[in-house]
Amino acid sequence: MSAIDDLVSELSRLPTIGRKSALRLTYHLLRQPGEQSRRLAAALIAIVEKVKPCAECGNLTEASPCALCADPRRDRSIICVVEEASDIPAIERTGEYRGLYHVLGGRLAPLDGVGPEDLAVAQLVRRVTAGGVREVILATNPKLEGEATALYVQEQLRDAGVTVSRLARGLPIGGDLEYADGVTIVQALAARRAM
Ligand SMILES: [Zn+2]
Repeated sequence: MSAIDDLVSELSRLPTIGRKSALRLTYHLLRQPGEQSRRLAAALIAIVEKVKPCAECGNLTEASPCALCADPRRDRSIICVVEEASDIPAIERTGEYRGLYHVLGGRLAPLDGVGPEDLAVAQLVRRVTAGGVREVILATNPKLEGEATALYVQEQLRDAGVTVSRLARGLPIGGDLEYADGVTIVQALAARRAM
């Protein structure tokens, strides 16, 4: 396989990038100064080598615990549970949430072979039962699988002695938290309801 075919094939594996876009990107890279492509390559290698999940919350970070877990100003009595680490920046951008996070690493999706054991639910239960937590906010996406995941997590926390709440509706149904605007997230957080 030629170097061009190789890059086109790798880029095609990325979400939302079809073969046509992959070809366009490849030829774009070939036209630009080599130094720019070298920086892109170095940035890709750096995220692979440096970024790891935080041992406490699962956030993707270069330091463990991550900056959020290590921040003494964060309210450690509230944990916001999200599907992916990429949901955290969306909530952080609002500047309204001061608690900690817990990344599940996905959502229950039996048809895709994702079961409870594939998600960081047991770790969440351990964090909560270790004490000091009074509320867990389930911020899984408002899709069928996100709802099913929220119900499952709630069930697992039933005897943990904490309030379990769910983000209010208002997030676009079927939309991803990651792409929701700040005002919508702030409203969904403020109007969260106990499950
Ligand atoms: Zn963390």
